[in-house]
Amino acid sequence: MSADPAPAPVLAVLGRGVVAADAPVVRADDDGLVRGDGCFEGCRVRVAADGGRAVDKLDAHVARFARSAAALEIDFDEPAWRDLVATAVAAWPGTGEAALKLVLTRGVDGRPTGFARVSAMAAESLRQRRDGLRVVTLARGLAADAFEASPWLLGGVKTLSYAVNMAAHREAVRRGADDVVFVSGDGAVLEAPTASVVWALGRTLHTTPLGPTGILAGTTQQLLFERASAAGWRTSYTLAGVDDLHAADAVWLVSSVRGPVDVVDLDGKSRERQPALDGEIRQLCGFPPGA
Ligand code: PLP
Repeated sequence: MSADPAPAPVLAVLGRGVVAADAPVVRADDDGLVRGDGCFEGCRVRVAADGGRAVDKLDAHVARFARSAAALEIDFDEPAWRDLVATAVAAWPGTGEAALKLVLTRGVDGRPTGFARVSAMAAESLRQRRDGLRVVTLARGLAADAFEASPWLLGGVKTLSYAVNMAAHREAVRRGADDVVFVSGDGAVLEAPTASVVWALGRTLHTTPLGPTGILAGTTQQLLFERASAAGWRTSYTLAGVDDLHAADAVWLVSSVRGPVDVVDLDGKSRERQPALDGEIRQLCGFPPGA
């Protein structure tokens, strides 16, 4: 028996509402397209059995989106974005989980373009949740404090300029892996191309400090730390080396849509899976094991 085909994506545009999924939205002279000059968010949508639907951590995503737009000096109309999200999510015909992407470009003549797109979960993300991640470390070159006092480097801003992140991902695949942990020129663990890095040692959860490292403040990592603290874990923002990851009890790449996924191989060294610990972290992030 074959599974039901995934529904077609839903596309909604600021100022226009829902349009056909293949409707033209971005002009050829939009700097968001030709220069990657814009920002985005990626969120998880959940549809309950009774049809009720919610965007996980919507306030945190909207707040980070607003911060990204402010750093880029692009107008951000929060009520209009919240309406657009509600419109797009209401029009999604699927069940279970879906991915929501929000995109804001610099636009043309000072008029930004914004759209929201809901689509089915990628089969590869679901496979990775089940099987865990094979990860390689790749150099990002810059020092761990390269973003200190250089706001034009746009540290912590979720810009549309992800070509480097995608190239790193292709390099991982060429090396037979699924994903990447970026390491600074001076050997510090940073983040993955589309996820935060979290590791456990005893009852302490660690992640990389924000600020000077320029990494993105992950909404999933932040929710995890809040809930983990309430559940009795210690949490720490730690500048660590790759050896610290090898020495950890478990390592996860955590992000909104794929959720927390445990690293089962790091630079060719396999790691024993820790189902109880992994289950606890998945639960805290809102991704119960087996869901
Ligand atoms: N770091 C980077 C570079 C990302 O692109 C992402 C998400 O796409 C994350 C971390 C995780 O952020 P979040 O948990 O808010 O999805």
